[in-house]
Amino acid sequence: MTTTLIRGGTVVTERGRRRADVLSRDGRIAAIGDKLEAPAGAEVIDVGGCYVMPGGIDPHTHMQLPMMGTVMADDFFTGTAAAAAGGTTTILDFVGPEPGQLPLEALAIWRERAAKSAVDYGFHMTVSWWSEAFSAAMASLVNDHGIASFKFFLAYKGRLMLPDEELIAGFRRCRDLGALVQVHAENGELIAYLQQKVLADGITSPLGHALSRPSQCEGEATLRAITMADIVDVPLYVVHVSAAEAADAIGQARRRGAKVIGETLPGFLAIDDVVYRAESFDIAAGHVMSPPYRPKGHQEAIWRAVETGTLSTTGTDHCCFTKAQKRLGLDDFTKIPNGCGGVEERLHVLWHLGVNSGRLTPERFVALTSANAAKAFNLRPRKGSLEVGADADLIVLDPERTRTLSASTQHQNTDFSVWEGMQIKGVVTHTLARGRHVWADGDLRAERGAGSYLPRKPFGAAYTATI
Ligand SMILES: [Zn+2]
Repeated sequence: MTTTLIRGGTVVTERGRRRADVLSRDGRIAAIGDKLEAPAGAEVIDVGGCYVMPGGIDPHTHMQLPMMGTVMADDFFTGTAAAAAGGTTTILDFVGPEPGQLPLEALAIWRERAAKSAVDYGFHMTVSWWSEAFSAAMASLVNDHGIASFKFFLAYKGRLMLPDEELIAGFRRCRDLGALVQVHAENGELIAYLQQKVLADGITSPLGHALSRPSQCEGEATLRAITMADIVDVPLYVVHVSAAEAADAIGQARRRGAKVIGETLPGFLAIDDVVYRAESFDIAAGHVMSPPYRPKGHQEAIWRAVETGTLSTTGTDHCCFTKAQKRLGLDDFTKIPNGCGGVEERLHVLWHLGVNSGRLTPERFVALTSANAAKAFNLRPRKGSLEVGADADLIVLDPERTRTLSASTQHQNTDFSVWEGMQIKGVVTHTLARGRHVWADGDLRAERGAGSYLPRKPFGAAYTATI
């Protein structure tokens, strides 16, 4: 194993910053301090003027996911390599059983797919259907396989959506196992109704996607999920919060002490629904994801929720498709594969929009990109902290360096980017993933299969949301 000394930077954690050198040895952080000596044979990286921070944890990706008649464009290798190029050193992906497929069978398939990952990875399990057998298998998932979070869909009627009765049963099962409940919160019944209505009105273009998923649908489902989790008494994690109504519901619940954690995506801080009116089908369809980008005004509401601590984590919902794949929905917006990329750009966009504008401190940036996800998903102390003994997952960010984001220069395996042409200031120049120097100033050295599976422990009865 290699030894690396990162010299002369400012080390930032979610609790503070100080000028210090960091020594990585055998995949762990071996020392942090002033003027550390470089051991014989160590690689030395001089990073004066730069920040040294924990590697990003993206708690929400969908590598290699089969969806709507095609497969997401990044596999676990290309997707995690792109992640490393953007400073993310851990992903949490979703195992998605087919209807009727037992979760352990699906897990085996995902474990095999993910074995080519370049960075460490763990899994959540999607509760894509419900039965006694599924419920029984959850105990083994939690206790034997390190799956400690389960995602429930309140949307996608006829595919993933569960009725309230089954949501309540699933939430109770999670509570009994000490697992975290995650929800995709949109009202699937209303969306199914609106999709038919919008199509009947003759709108088949990507604009129909936004028109059929208004923000109220997210607000209602978020409040319903919070209410159910509250009464069942299980902690709740709301993925990809995009709507002001949803952020309000989470804020109110947290103020009265409910155990609710909210995640948002950088896109929801910056991109509005005007993209669905683009003349180019490729551009409009390229932005089709669920929930959709929201009307102007929601972005500011989501920013305020991030600034005030209502929202605690950022993910990407990384699920990119090529322009050709998106054209499956050329004549019907309900057939456009849902998803956008972003695992590579999350840290850059958040730093540029958040830290450069003064809305986020570097410490809060670390909390939002790494530390809070490690807490929410029980990855501490190995991940999300820059401390002696933790995994040597870290990044160097040069706050003066600039770059233009573009599909033509990204490592994500697609020909589209929602960030096309965006000029950012603050660039990840180096990434260490468990001590391996995988991103070296523009040189991507990601290795197929170098990442390891991260089994996670349940929280048990003691769990309370403190982030
Ligand atoms: Zn997702």
